[in-house]
Amino acid sequence: MTPLPIVYHPDYVAPLRPGHRFPMSKYGYLRQALTARGLLPETGGFLAPAPASIRQAAGVHAFAYVERVANIGLTAEETRRIGLPNTAPVSRRAFLSSAGTLLAARLALEHGLACNMAGGSHHAGPEGGAGFCVFNDVAIAARALLDEGLVRRVLVIDLDVHQGDGTAHIFAGDPRVFTLSLHAEKNYPVHKAQSDLDFPLPDGLRDTPYLEMLDHALARTAAFHPDIVFYNAGVDPHELDRLGRLSLSSEGLRAREARVIAFARGRGLPLAGVLGGGYDDDPERLAARHALLFEEAARAMAA
Ligand SMILES: [Zn+2]
Repeated sequence: MTPLPIVYHPDYVAPLRPGHRFPMSKYGYLRQALTARGLLPETGGFLAPAPASIRQAAGVHAFAYVERVANIGLTAEETRRIGLPNTAPVSRRAFLSSAGTLLAARLALEHGLACNMAGGSHHAGPEGGAGFCVFNDVAIAARALLDEGLVRRVLVIDLDVHQGDGTAHIFAGDPRVFTLSLHAEKNYPVHKAQSDLDFPLPDGLRDTPYLEMLDHALARTAAFHPDIVFYNAGVDPHELDRLGRLSLSSEGLRAREARVIAFARGRGLPLAGVLGGGYDDDPERLAARHALLFEEAARAMAA
């Protein structure tokens, strides 16, 4: 039995000023949570990526923007849109987490399933970053696999509570990539993009109708026949999330992860899971929500 391949890098955690709105500490807490659950050993046990290349990042973002990220030369307006400081650790983290998602995808092609303990930066679009997202890691990874000829068609399942607008913009008009987004209609971003399939959801939606909608949405992708699935498992649809507007319970989130994984495995599709959003003032509680993806993925691999 192959254990679940888990991608992580200690530099996924970049220092921010105290009290910053972005819950940077969750990546370290998640590592502890996965160790506590026996999914990682006390030390190591994960695969660490080397940073993505400028060329890979420029596969989906404007070259000049990628250069400004690399050179810590973002404009004040770009920095404001991203909401993270224009520092070397934040830049390095963007190159690392993008490469981490690509590594998870390669591992998924080999082993059927793999997860990156970061990524899901789905608001970053062709011209630049936004909403805590510097680079669109899923788009960078998908484009790299397509360019290398490792896959011909890619399905992106984005269940973060915010719309995957950057991903939708990047792949608009590209028939090789199918983008599916279930999101809270009234949440950020104000101006939604057009995914191949969008399911805007009403505030306060609870487990049962959400899961029914998910089943319906997954069934609607049946005609596409991808070679790989990227899954943005943002946990911000949770009822206690600070930014989400939906009302999923932790058990609802667990059922969601199980369904997406079963959908892919039932069709023999490799699935690369990425973390996505999740906002809670209690980082341990938040890490436990993100751990659900890894628990369900490990369970599926053991089955
Ligand atoms: Zn989100």
